[in-house]
Amino acid sequence: MSIRFAGLHHVTAIAGNPQENVDFYAGILGLRLVKKTVNFDDDRSYHLYYGDAAGNPGTIMTFFTWPGAPRGRIGTGQVSATSFAVPEDSLGYWLERLLQYGVRFEQPVRRFDETVVAFRDPDGIPVEIVARPGNEGGEIWDRSPVPAETAIRGISGVTLLERSAEVAENVLTNLLGFEKAEEWDGRTRYLSAGSGGSFADVVAVPEGATGQEAVGTVHHVAWRAPDDQTLEAWRGEIEDRGLNVTTVLDRKYFHSIYFREPGGVLFEIATDAPGFAVDEDPDHLGESLNLPPWLENDRERIEEALPPVKLPV
Ligand code: ZN
Repeated sequence: MSIRFAGLHHVTAIAGNPQENVDFYAGILGLRLVKKTVNFDDDRSYHLYYGDAAGNPGTIMTFFTWPGAPRGRIGTGQVSATSFAVPEDSLGYWLERLLQYGVRFEQPVRRFDETVVAFRDPDGIPVEIVARPGNEGGEIWDRSPVPAETAIRGISGVTLLERSAEVAENVLTNLLGFEKAEEWDGRTRYLSAGSGGSFADVVAVPEGATGQEAVGTVHHVAWRAPDDQTLEAWRGEIEDRGLNVTTVLDRKYFHSIYFREPGGVLFEIATDAPGFAVDEDPDHLGESLNLPPWLENDRERIEEALPPVKLPV
């Protein structure tokens, strides 16, 4: 039996220049930088987290920054698009905003019950603004440059590029508990249970080239576990299915496990707690560099090696 879960937790991608990344996600898209830390597995790289006012699970997009590193290639075994939910009547605002900042976008298209505007971030990472009924509410950041009534509500879902739809389907439905929904123009939608659930769309490209992980690609997608017991239970179930899964890792803001689904996409399962206020005043999230206790002794060396990053004013 699969364990029911509440959808998407976060998406993590690889960016180049950290300042361009901040200017795009905080400055143009209006998300809050909720945490500035380093990659816990490589402290020469920032790990920047964006989200709603509190960085609630389901609103978080994060980046490792590798300035000057080569770009990767988006291909099979990867997340090929991350979709941000906006209120249904805010699309006009967003088109104008993208024009104003010189972000080139594709003409809006209908897909299922939503209207989608696709564009790329400064590193070529595909993102979408998705407008549909029900994309309201949420914990909006009141200092965002984007007005509250048009603000991004969170991440509505991701698109997975796969060699074969069947391989992904087994993991998504039988292991993760997604429900298979409709198909649309070569795209199969899987919906998570629970209110305001997320989607995972699978686009199968049997002859597609395998993705190459580097700047401009998504590193992994994380799904939510409500608590540590559920995470452990899930870990056992993944192991029972013969998939390689990590031990439970302490990511400071959540606990998590990682495994690769058979189609190649790196999945993480992350707990909702403890969240981003664990080491910072909620009013001042993301304003200074936060390090985990085991790196605190190296703060001076780490800060010197990182390029300075300023929040947009
Ligand atoms: Zn992650």
